[in-house]
Formats: sequence, structure tokens, C-alpha cells
Amino acid sequence: MSIVRSPRGYYISPLLSRLPWLEHSFGTAIAAPSPGYRLLHQVHSAKVLEARQCGPGVEGDALITQDCGVFVGVKTADCVPLLIADPVHRAVAAVHAGWRGTLAGIAAITIARLAETYGSQPEDLTVAIGPSIGVCCFEVGPEVAIEFGGIFPERGDLLEKTRLDLREANLRQLLKAGVPGSQIDTDPPCTCCGGAEFYSWRRDRIQGQRMFAAIGVISPSAPRMR
Ligand SMILES: [Zn+2]
Repeated sequence: MSIVRSPRGYYISPLLSRLPWLEHSFGTAIAAPSPGYRLLHQVHSAKVLEARQCGPGVEGDALITQDCGVFVGVKTADCVPLLIADPVHRAVAAVHAGWRGTLAGIAAITIARLAETYGSQPEDLTVAIGPSIGVCCFEVGPEVAIEFGGIFPERGDLLEKTRLDLREANLRQLLKAGVPGSQIDTDPPCTCCGGAEFYSWRRDRIQGQRMFAAIGVISPSAPRMR
């Protein structure tokens, strides 16, 4: 399924919305999740931390938690945000996957960390891929393209300037890790050509313009995110 735009301007995953024990949203340039979520100092790594390890200046690119009322978030402007939920163990994750993090396999590493930490099984997970740069706009030089040969072995054009599909790259990693395709929401809008609703580093090159995505386990008394 595709993620959908809510009346208030967030993007929401239909699959994650079916899970009443969590709240989530992909923010845009015009709508941000309620503040209070944990956020790492993102460095395009494959480093996954528990929300409890998060603090000022702590570096990493994915956060996981099972703690009720604790929201984990990522910030992006073209990079791929992934929100993950395990309905069996009631655990969640937020992942920042730019091209470097994608190459480093951060989606699969987060799934492995969920398994180690909470006992999550990949076949139980629900995943949503948020607004990010599409294959329509993500043109890269051969020095970047060639690195994707392992992910796109069928491509014969990676020795020249070409376009890459980072969502597809992450989707393949999720499927390879064992997440069923029917449990993944994708086809989000392109942040670069999708209009002023989105921030895009490639389009605008403005420092500090980032969109936030967040997910958390809620209790019945927890505030709603949207
Ligand atoms: Zn585009």
C-alpha cells in the first residue's frame, strides 16, 4: 500500500494505523509531529541505539524502543525515513537511511537489533517508507552508483551518471531480511519534485530545513500525535 496524506498535512501509513497501541507520523515542511521525541545526531551511519541511550550529541541513525510513551524520531530532507513496528512485542523503530546508510544496510541492521533486544521476528514487522527523494530526481555520479552494484545486480549502467531508487534499495533490504512485502507501505511522494510541502536538500540546499518522522508506543492516556 501507499502512505497517505492526512487532512492536517502529515503522511500516515495505513498499515501502521491499524495498530492501536502506537502513534506515528511522517511530518512535512508544513506539519511536524508533536515535539518530545528522541532524536540522535545523525551521521549517515548504520548505528542503531535504544531510545534510553539517546542524549545530547549522541550519534547514530536509528532508534528503537519498547518504552510506553517514548517516541523515537528521525529528521530527513530527501533521505529515506523508515518507521517500523513489531505488533507481537510492541516495539518500534525510526530509521534514517540516506545513500550511505542504505549502503551500510541500516534497515536490516535495525531489524537485527530489534530481534536481539526485544525478540522481534522479521515476519511480524510492519514497515512504512516515508517521503524521500524518488528515482525521478536522485541522479548520482558513477562513484556513488557503482557502490550500489550489490543491491541492484541487474543494473548495467552503474559505471556512469545515472538515477538510483533509494526506496527500492531499502525495500529490497527489508524483503531480504524477511519482512513480508504485504507488510510494507511504500510509494511515498518525492521530496525533491513533490512541491513546497516538502523540504529537499538536493533542490534547495538550505541547512536546517528538515522534516521529522516519529513513532512511539502509547498508553491509553498518552497524548495523540495528530
Ligand atoms: Zn522527484
